[in-house]
Amino acid sequence: MREGREDVSPTTEDPVELANRKPDPYRHILVALDFTPHSSHALALALELVRLHDSKLSLIHAVENSFYPDLGYDPLMIDPGEFAELDQQIHDQAVLRMEQLAKSLDYADVQHDVLWGTPKSAVLSYAEAQKVDLIVVGSHGRHGIAKLLGSTAVAIVHSARCDVFVVRLAE
Ligand code: AMP
Repeated sequence: MREGREDVSPTTEDPVELANRKPDPYRHILVALDFTPHSSHALALALELVRLHDSKLSLIHAVENSFYPDLGYDPLMIDPGEFAELDQQIHDQAVLRMEQLAKSLDYADVQHDVLWGTPKSAVLSYAEAQKVDLIVVGSHGRHGIAKLLGSTAVAIVHSARCDVFVVRLAE
């Protein structure tokens, strides 16, 4: 049994009673940040929610490993170590940005992490492991295209086992 909010299993079918039932507060809200202005906007909305619900706030950013070319086929003979070094620098920079951001927030109950992997897998596995009960994600980010939802948001909405708040990107 998950520790987050109680499952919403109605004990009545009366629509008026159901609509007036006070839901449990969100206890742990996770924001997926890609450091774009749009995800900062999503964070601002999440801050309103954590204050309202007095929840724990988690911020995460995912860093993906670069694709290492197979040296047997790579005519440029690029050293895979150079990619690994670059990835580590990107990760270190993200850790610094995350620390600064978390410190700057006017909210005490914040934890933050920079994880290796795709945004989708990092967000979903963190949410499961940390018993998150609301994920806040931007509708689009760096990989977003001119669709209703970008790939990360779609993947999270499809696979998350908790509520998901998708913050729409202003056109
Ligand atoms: P995208 O899939 O690039 O359209 O991004 C949509 C949203 O997914 C962003 O607004 C973020 O909330 C989240 N996101 C994208 N990339 C990352 C990442 N590297 N780490 C954490 N969250 C991310």
